[in-house]
Amino acid sequence: MAHEEYGCPCCQAGLGNLFAYDAADATAAEIRILPIGRRRFMAGASALAGTAVTTACGSSLLSAPPVAPELEARTRIYAGGTIMTVDPGFSRPEAMAVKGNRILATGSLEDVQAAAGEDADIIDLKGRTVLPGLIDPHTHILIGALMDQAMDYVGITRFSTTDEILDYIRHLDSERPENEWIVCRNYYPMLQAFEEPLGFSSLDKISGIRPIMVLNASGHIAYANQAAFMAAGIPDDVANPSGGEFVRDTNGNLTGEMRNQTTYSKVLGARPSGVGSAPADAVLKTCERFASLGLTTVSELGLGGLLRGAGDWEVLKQAGATGRLSQRIRAYPMYVFDDAWDEAGLSPGEGDDLVRIAGYKLIADGSNQGFTGLQREPYYTVDSTGIAYMAPAELTALMRKRAAQGWQIAVHGNGDKAIDNILDAVEQVASEGIDVKSLRIRIEHCSILHDEQIERMKAHGVSASFLIGHVHYWGVAMRDRIFGPDKSRLLDRCASCERAGVGYTIHSDFFVTDPNPLHMIEMAVTRQSWKEPDFALAPEECASRETAIRAMTSEAAWQLGSDHEIGSLEPGKFADYVILDGDPSSVPADEIKNIRVLETWMGGAQTFQA
Ligand SMILES: [Zn+2]
Ligand SMILES: [Zn+2]
Repeated sequence: MAHEEYGCPCCQAGLGNLFAYDAADATAAEIRILPIGRRRFMAGASALAGTAVTTACGSSLLSAPPVAPELEARTRIYAGGTIMTVDPGFSRPEAMAVKGNRILATGSLEDVQAAAGEDADIIDLKGRTVLPGLIDPHTHILIGALMDQAMDYVGITRFSTTDEILDYIRHLDSERPENEWIVCRNYYPMLQAFEEPLGFSSLDKISGIRPIMVLNASGHIAYANQAAFMAAGIPDDVANPSGGEFVRDTNGNLTGEMRNQTTYSKVLGARPSGVGSAPADAVLKTCERFASLGLTTVSELGLGGLLRGAGDWEVLKQAGATGRLSQRIRAYPMYVFDDAWDEAGLSPGEGDDLVRIAGYKLIADGSNQGFTGLQREPYYTVDSTGIAYMAPAELTALMRKRAAQGWQIAVHGNGDKAIDNILDAVEQVASEGIDVKSLRIRIEHCSILHDEQIERMKAHGVSASFLIGHVHYWGVAMRDRIFGPDKSRLLDRCASCERAGVGYTIHSDFFVTDPNPLHMIEMAVTRQSWKEPDFALAPEECASRETAIRAMTSEAAWQLGSDHEIGSLEPGKFADYVILDGDPSSVPADEIKNIRVLETWMGGAQTFQA
């Protein structure tokens, strides 16, 4: 099987091509998925052309009148449980008071009561645990939300095998109205072991009438049944479009597998109209779901990818203005649209405490599991050293331009050679007199790290953000196929960074993996493999409980430039917190993921109740 199939969509600009909406009617209650040939783009936003199509996802939150988040009128004091502030001393005071949208006081119950006044309500935690609101410092909330609302998730955080996926699709088929399509996302053949690839052979057995399509996690490949091909008017003798392929078996018959968007967008484009949602509405709905996971802040590390430029920032502001957003969002404009950001006059820090521009995004290479991460040496089973998405000179030039303007820089780097290139650029820019330490430069994924690279990061105040699912979900593949037993031990080096004094966070890269912060904390602490539960990848790199918790709270806030307002439970910061039924610092390591989120509060307003 060709290795390109496993390419990872993170940080690429292409997937936004699937979605478009009418820029002239920004409140249009539809996600529109347009066939490639019938789409045209105008001035930073997509314009509709041809038949619009979409998704069924219920009523629009966006069309409801804006609300002010519902704040508790009374001052509340929490006591009687574990209050983990995640402040510099990782203190656990007896009590915490919340007034309006801020934390008023922490300390002994007596002191907190004195600060809160006699009228304050006292809430008995009954042994439960309060933690700062959880922060995912690297997600793709815009395209991720559209995918989330338009397609059913069948990825690795839900199903282990293709058989389970087929059972699930069978279940959907038995439940859905007859005329409704089934479209699924995030199928990952390398990890979800299969007998034969999805396509006519398996999906036709589920339905010969209802169109079914499953999108590969890479975003580059899709699999459909014959009913979907018929609905799209794709004949048996269809010619391959440029750059795409309708895969055929050895007898020359179509298999239902389609490579590249130019092929499968014909199928998606034939999906009939339904009630859908505008991009901002999809963001509101997906954020509402994420509140149940304890998240109070997420991020957009590829701003511009949906509407090809500054329109993406308008969508986030539109979501924020409704007063219905369940998470704060920190956004990073993507270098691919560099001119568009200049034209829009976007500056770092623009926005407010809810939705804000945090930094600037550069991309040094591809993904390791897609064999496109840039390596010093060839891959273990593939004779390639990957791809430099930005050549060193371009990387340095754009880092120089944006750092000189005061932007924080976040650079996607997976392979060790890509990280060499990033650190070379940082050192070059520093040698020219820019105070890079103050910019909090972060390396995204930062997957393969050698000791001397950690030292170079330390010297320039560069921090790491690890996609910790690389260890848990891909650990066995990293060992057996991608890097081999030795180099795979250099993946996501939590303990080495901690020892060296290099800060790190952990992230889901949603929609690459679905975000579950407590599960991610467990992955960092145990490094256990999903495929071989007895195998831990480089156990010497297991994170301590404290740093793993910090990686999704205080350290994540710092990386997002928001440590002055969120990330810990300290007086004056926003009242962003979660109440859990267990303490992630003391339950057995492999039970952290089983801790239940009971309540989530953002800015003093409750966003989730179990
Ligand atoms: Zn990403
Ligand atoms: Zn990335």
